[in-house]
Amino acid sequence: MESVLACSEVRKTYVSYQKGKKICTEALKGLSFSMEKGERLGILGPSGCGKSTLLKCILGLERPDGGRALLAGKAGFVAQDPYSSISPRLTVEQIIEEPLVYGRTGAGRAERRRKVREAMEQMRLDYEKYRRRYPQQPSGGERQRVSIARAVIGEPEILVLDEPASMLDYGVKGEIAGLLLDSCRRLHASLLLVTHDVAFAKQMCGRMIVMREGEEVESGQTEQICREPKSVFTARLFRAAEDIERYWEEKDRLETGTALKQYRNAEEKRRLRA
Ligand code: ADP
Repeated sequence: MESVLACSEVRKTYVSYQKGKKICTEALKGLSFSMEKGERLGILGPSGCGKSTLLKCILGLERPDGGRALLAGKAGFVAQDPYSSISPRLTVEQIIEEPLVYGRTGAGRAERRRKVREAMEQMRLDYEKYRRRYPQQPSGGERQRVSIARAVIGEPEILVLDEPASMLDYGVKGEIAGLLLDSCRRLHASLLLVTHDVAFAKQMCGRMIVMREGEEVESGQTEQICREPKSVFTARLFRAAEDIERYWEEKDRLETGTALKQYRNAEEKRRLRA
């Protein structure tokens, strides 16, 4: 099988100073894995375990101190909060078009416009309605759809996702997951997701690597690792996620119950008044 990404012994230590004291943080302690073409891989772990550092090394934004991260092919990147890195002065159309302009694709203006429209339609964004808007104007879910349109417009071989749904409402997450999976299928692209969100990773990925403090804890096919985690750390991570799921389900149930009760009471009063 062809590989799209190969990481071997990737190491990264950050050096910072606090009150004149030198602090070394080993963000990555020699991480190795590879990804086959078409694979959907999730890197799962709590905050601070080194996920963003790994992505930065893969995307060439950070230089590893040791080892190598080799990406074969074009990557499309979706960040957690896309607008922290995008100019607020560009319109939605200019934002989505940007990879075609700077990627030296040779596409002329009309061609670029056609592609932007197509990418927006794939993300269920009305072209005429949104093209002239600014990033602050669409809602969180719509903003992330703009960001996905921008990531897929250059037809990447691999989609690299950094917590793409963690700032979104519970209900919008499913929609974003669906759009990302559809894009992968359409482009025959691989997908690399880093997240702390177990439920989202389960939905998106066929294989998972669980990380803790810059190291791999375990890895395996999603179904298998969920059914039979080998380490206590993974089991706890999954259990905590189930508790959160239950909390939301319970909240939904109670809110629906209260809303129905209020509606029925109001109806009853109306009936008595009549
Ligand atoms: P995650 O994405 O899983 O939350 P990160 O890769 O952001 O984790 O961080 C891994 C570790 O490296 C953390 O302990 C974090 O505090 C530290 N770290 C990340 N970036 C820097 C930096 N620029 N300088 C110093 N320490 C950093």
